[in-house]
Amino acid sequence: MEFVYNALPARVIFGSGTRETVKDELARLGIKRALVLSTADQSSTGAQFAAMIEDRLGAVYPGAVMHTPVDVTESAMLQMRQMDCDGILAVGGGSTIGLGKAIAYRTDLPQVVVPTTYAGSEMTPILGQTEKGLKTTLRSEKVLPETVIYDPELTKTLPDFISGPSGMNAIAHAVEALYAEDRNPIISMMAEASIKALGEALPPLMKDGSDMEAREKALYGAWLAGACLGSVGMAIHHKICHTLGGTFDLNHANVHSLMIAYSTAYNRDDAPEAMAAIARALGTDDAAGGLYDLLQSVGQVTSLKEMGLSEADLDKASELAVQNPYYNPRPVTKDGVREMLQAAFEGRRPTVS
Ligand code: NAD
Repeated sequence: MEFVYNALPARVIFGSGTRETVKDELARLGIKRALVLSTADQSSTGAQFAAMIEDRLGAVYPGAVMHTPVDVTESAMLQMRQMDCDGILAVGGGSTIGLGKAIAYRTDLPQVVVPTTYAGSEMTPILGQTEKGLKTTLRSEKVLPETVIYDPELTKTLPDFISGPSGMNAIAHAVEALYAEDRNPIISMMAEASIKALGEALPPLMKDGSDMEAREKALYGAWLAGACLGSVGMAIHHKICHTLGGTFDLNHANVHSLMIAYSTAYNRDDAPEAMAAIARALGTDDAAGGLYDLLQSVGQVTSLKEMGLSEADLDKASELAVQNPYYNPRPVTKDGVREMLQAAFEGRRPTVS
């Protein structure tokens, strides 16, 4: 056994009602004038937090949008400077958290983050930003939030069409962590626990979004999945999802949600320990089959055909996917990827070879 494990520093507070600790957590970091961030959709949640932190409020900026455009970051920073803010309070999903990270990258201000989806960005030192339509990604510990408050009550309002794919997206991070090139025993334990928690939580949650036991379990699994994504490298699944998402402008979470069963099947014979861990977590004897079954009960789309792709698009995607491939346990070949995409196109159960 040989590995390198780098623990990422973060203070995590988990539990229903923990949002009430937010003012104390700002004080703990010495933040006297917080910039409260949210999307426009969640502006009322942002306003509730602004009221909760009372005299530690500096300004409110409810303008976060998807993909962290640099001009939005600059406009939020203008407000931050005008109101002399000395810290960030981001309340929301990956888009809002991305804006907080982008400001922290430029200013090194401390961040308290309150995630309300399962995307997991709060646990990673990764920042993706867009400028003039181009997305770039960087890694820096400056962007890693100091404090994360997970309050499952805030996820009760998350609609099904976000809960299911966002949860499956989190599972995809945990699955790939299990066969990552730089995997290690701690992250593998977290990954298995994440898949188990999300696998148990998502089906009941899709039936009843106010099931608090399921909401707690899902957010717990999402925390673990975010920690996996922040710690180890990703493989074929992320490469193929970026290729499909970027080239054909497909919904990010839906592509992840659909493809993870097929990416797992691709690696079936080359990552036996990972397959065993995934199968154990899902209570099945076939990892890819278990993920496929989960998709049928929680996914919004169950084939690439349904997402509007053609067979010619699959040829193009398999060509692109083999350019600058990421590490993957099984070599990434054009024919192999094309075969995997065909099965996903048809929404076929990934067969046992
Ligand atoms: P999001 O933050 O865009 O949220 C989707 C929508 O749901 C928004 O309109 C938001 O206002 C709303 N919403 C969020 N929480 C809600 C709740 N509890 N109730 C009701 N509505 C709610 O989506 P996301 O999937 O959380 O994040 C996606 C973004 O995060 C992408 O840009 C992605 O690239 C990024 N991301 C980054 C990392 C990283 O490590 N840097 C990791 C994962 C995702």
